Amino acid sequence: MFCWLSRLYRGLSRPTRRTTQLIWGSFSRSLVLSSQRRIPELSSFVARTNTCGELRSSHLGQEVTLCGWIQYRRQNIFLVLRDFHGLVQVIIPQDESAASVKKILCEAPMESVVQVSGTVISRPPGQENPKMPTGEIEIKVKTAKLLNSCKKLPFEIKDFVKKTEALRLRYRYLDLRGVQMQYNLRLRSQMVMKMREYLCNLHGFVDIETPTLFKRTPGGAKEFVIPSREPGKFYSLPQSPQQFKQLLMVGGLDRYFQVARCYRDEGSRPDRQPEFTQIDIEMSFVEQTGIQSLIEGLLQYSWPSDRDPVVVPFPSMTFAEALASYGTDKPDTRFGMKIVDISDMFRNTEVGFLQDALSKPQGTIKAICIPEGEKYLKRKDIESIRKFAADHFNQCSLLGKLRLECADLLEARGVALRDPALFSFLWVVDFPLFFPKEENPEELETAHHPFTAPHPSDIHHLYTEPQKVRSQHYDLVLNGSEIGGGSIRIHDAELQHYILATVLKEDVKLLSHLLQALDYGAPPHGGIAIGLDRLMCLVTGAPSIRDVIAFPKSFQGHDLMSNAPDSIPPEELKPYHIQVSWPTDSETKKSSLNHPCHPES
Ligand code: ASP
Repeated sequence: MFCWLSRLYRGLSRPTRRTTQLIWGSFSRSLVLSSQRRIPELSSFVARTNTCGELRSSHLGQEVTLCGWIQYRRQNIFLVLRDFHGLVQVIIPQDESAASVKKILCEAPMESVVQVSGTVISRPPGQENPKMPTGEIEIKVKTAKLLNSCKKLPFEIKDFVKKTEALRLRYRYLDLRGVQMQYNLRLRSQMVMKMREYLCNLHGFVDIETPTLFKRTPGGAKEFVIPSREPGKFYSLPQSPQQFKQLLMVGGLDRYFQVARCYRDEGSRPDRQPEFTQIDIEMSFVEQTGIQSLIEGLLQYSWPSDRDPVVVPFPSMTFAEALASYGTDKPDTRFGMKIVDISDMFRNTEVGFLQDALSKPQGTIKAICIPEGEKYLKRKDIESIRKFAADHFNQCSLLGKLRLECADLLEARGVALRDPALFSFLWVVDFPLFFPKEENPEELETAHHPFTAPHPSDIHHLYTEPQKVRSQHYDLVLNGSEIGGGSIRIHDAELQHYILATVLKEDVKLLSHLLQALDYGAPPHGGIAIGLDRLMCLVTGAPSIRDVIAFPKSFQGHDLMSNAPDSIPPEELKPYHIQVSWPTDSETKKSSLNHPCHPES
């Protein structure tokens, strides 16, 4: 198993965002195995002897049976058959005795699925197609079977044919036939396989499934609620297996992992989905550096072999430094243009608005130096920067956003700032344990989740000035996106109770099971979760995480193919003791105005 996977893996080359037109020839080349040996596993147990993309001159004379979709037909003589592995040319027999085969192959509409049997022959000299990996051979067909005919399609199955995302999502099963989606999902599967291998086979982790019907968890993201048949009682879909993985540590399963589905009812954001997948990990008797080394090794091991290898250890930056130099806790470190504090240069300034800024408590003057900005940026660019700053004024993340905005402008002017082939990993560490709540800064909320342990050197502040306490929380950032996060956990019931009840003012009854478990010899433990969708999005260069998920929800959280969420007749709601309070017309209108741009229009 390992052998063919690694060969398949090596053979994949990546379609990137830069690739403007992927053609089936390149598709077949991209999925072809680097070794030309037959890979029997790809055709075991099924009604074919070979895949369409696999045949070469070395197969000449072999009798083969292929199954695939009709990609092209030319002059009723040539037919090109496609499967996930590539394309192969089939010669439609012209002689009388094969009239029924000819009829099937000439009459079947494009994208019909057929089975053909015949001999692998070489193409006549001069008719080889060097652009096609199977371009030296063709199939002389003896028998053909129409397995299923295809009706008129809503769009052509060719990646270069432009279609709206809404249409793609509505006919996702057709969209999945395209080169890019095939590539993205197959690469995802291979990376996950390598991760499993690394975790289970090389490091003794145990893959354990945890429930998806759970109860409400205080703090953190909004959860989806599932009605139960008991009046007024609801399950919640877990935002992550956090509590279960900690309880597994108490249970002595000291190296856990899971490819876990998580659910968060957080509304629409470009890099989020209401349901998403994490590589969820927890270990006992571990410190922050142990988790970090594990993840570095995991990514190095599972990284596609046609990319530049992952270099470890990843650099690390404190939260404070990330905010000061990049204006964000997820810095894109592929380029410089750091934020610099130039307050000292203006201490004696006579410029009024600068004086004003410096006279405020903690007032500073900061700058971003754009290398050769004068050369590249036009007057209208400067104007757009000014407008961007005005629109985002008073957000503390303004400078970080401005830095990225300037990078976009420079790139639009042809400056190669962020190398798309570069993967720049970064650990961000030493987060504060708590942030002041946005709606009421007097109160504190947890920066990661309430189970995160305080930094040992700050623990003395916890009971007097909790806002000063740093945590043992770490985030993994890749090219400016947060792709993972975790922490060393509190394993002391008393400390956990204090943080929940006194600092966060949460209802501890909701977590009594966890508090109780910590009292029964819970080992010190910590973990992390890697966001698989975001990671794959970056690895494949996909424009959206929807492009690395087989059946994603739309921007508004809808499944456009099946029309979920859908209504339920009132009588089916009765056992759940639920009544719908229907929105008024104006509420409906307002909610559609709030989402003017989404792939559903
Ligand atoms: N459960 C956390 C999350 O989903 C990750 C962790 O702390 O391990 O962010």
